[in-house]
Amino acid sequence: MRFQDISPFFKGRLPGQLVIQYANHCNGDCPQCGMRRSRSMERSRLDKEKVKRLIDDAGERGFQALSFTGGEPLLFLDDIIELIDHAAGAGIRYVRTGTNGFLFTGSERPDFEARINALAARIAATKLYTFWISIDSADPEEHERMRGLPGVIRGIEKALPIFHAHGIYPSVNLGINRNTGGRDARLYRPDLDPEEFRRLFRAAFRRFYGFVHDLGFTIVNACYPMSDEGDGQPDSTDDGGATAEGLAKVYGASSEDRVIRFTPQEKGRIFQALFETIPRYRHRLRIFSPRCSLYSLIKRYQKNEVPLYPCRGGHEFFFVESGQGRIHPCGYLPGVIAGLPDLRRRPSPSAKRPDCHLCEWECFRDPSEMMGPLAELCTSPLSLAVHLFRNPGFFRILLEDLRYYRACDFFNCRLPPDLDAMRRFAVRGEQS
Ligand code: SF4
Ligand code: SF4
Repeated sequence: MRFQDISPFFKGRLPGQLVIQYANHCNGDCPQCGMRRSRSMERSRLDKEKVKRLIDDAGERGFQALSFTGGEPLLFLDDIIELIDHAAGAGIRYVRTGTNGFLFTGSERPDFEARINALAARIAATKLYTFWISIDSADPEEHERMRGLPGVIRGIEKALPIFHAHGIYPSVNLGINRNTGGRDARLYRPDLDPEEFRRLFRAAFRRFYGFVHDLGFTIVNACYPMSDEGDGQPDSTDDGGATAEGLAKVYGASSEDRVIRFTPQEKGRIFQALFETIPRYRHRLRIFSPRCSLYSLIKRYQKNEVPLYPCRGGHEFFFVESGQGRIHPCGYLPGVIAGLPDLRRRPSPSAKRPDCHLCEWECFRDPSEMMGPLAELCTSPLSLAVHLFRNPGFFRILLEDLRYYRACDFFNCRLPPDLDAMRRFAVRGEQS
């Protein structure tokens, strides 16, 4: 790890992150997303030269992570490759992008292998740190139906060894939804017993992890459900303190479809099911989802406890939307930020401290939760000691997450899994 990776902590800041929605064009048809191709909406793409200037600014101001998202980023493959190179040249180390997998359809055609080889070679020639492929169900037919991309799963299965041969280990990105484990009508029933709901979701996550492992993935991440009017239906007697008030559709990756709408009570059970499932697969798959963050979310939804470390959206993390290219605190708050802060300096004493817990957008929530204590250690060790004394469970899980992240080489897509290091995280009876 380089000094510049940790230097922001000594100023009470986290390393900066920008999520840039390069375009909102998409050829997928996912019901859980407002940017699906069948939805009539204004489509937009950013000016590439403006994006380069923004990247230069972010690099100079000490930002270290940058994601190019969409829509479907690879509809603009040439631009995205150029921008990845530009970001690396600007000194940004953790550059990420991904795809819905449309380039992997048509795998029965004779030119498939040559096509994917060329794609993998182009990506391998950049300094991309993370390359994700989205899959939303353990049932191939269900996933392809939802995405509107027939044959994509077979294509992904054929493409993965080609990517591995080029030294790229893509991660699979699951957008958690009611069909995660395959279509199960019970998970749509509003009167389903909460414990049964949790049990079914645990089975769904197991099925999903087993499925993507068998497909050939070595890294997996989960996007927490973000629904419009996010407190969901139909249960209004929620047992959590979460509220979706104040959220807006800056980023269109949410929808009102029942497949993605959950009550706060259901969300709490989902986080619990994921928290319980992860340990069983950590020795086989590099699972990015930090359990400390899930632990906080469970307490938030089941006990109405505010997470220890607030989201850094609008402080060190920002979202750039494709329409006007405006900078927002995140994908879900409508405010516009005048410019990026200089993360090499301390925030001015009058700067507002982060306090937002409105949603659980994992892009911002997970790193806030994981790195918040490091910034606190460097600037307010006494306050950290108080947190530690009052919340030993959170810190025990955080330390284990950090050890696990190390065993996974911090999910660098250029490295194969170190199964010996990961095996130390196998739970009893799950060594194989
Ligand atoms: S989730 Fe991704 S692939 Fe699906 S419609 Fe939205 S942007 Fe497109
Ligand atoms: S918790 Fe973070 S991502 Fe969610 S609305 Fe607040 S600042 Fe935005």
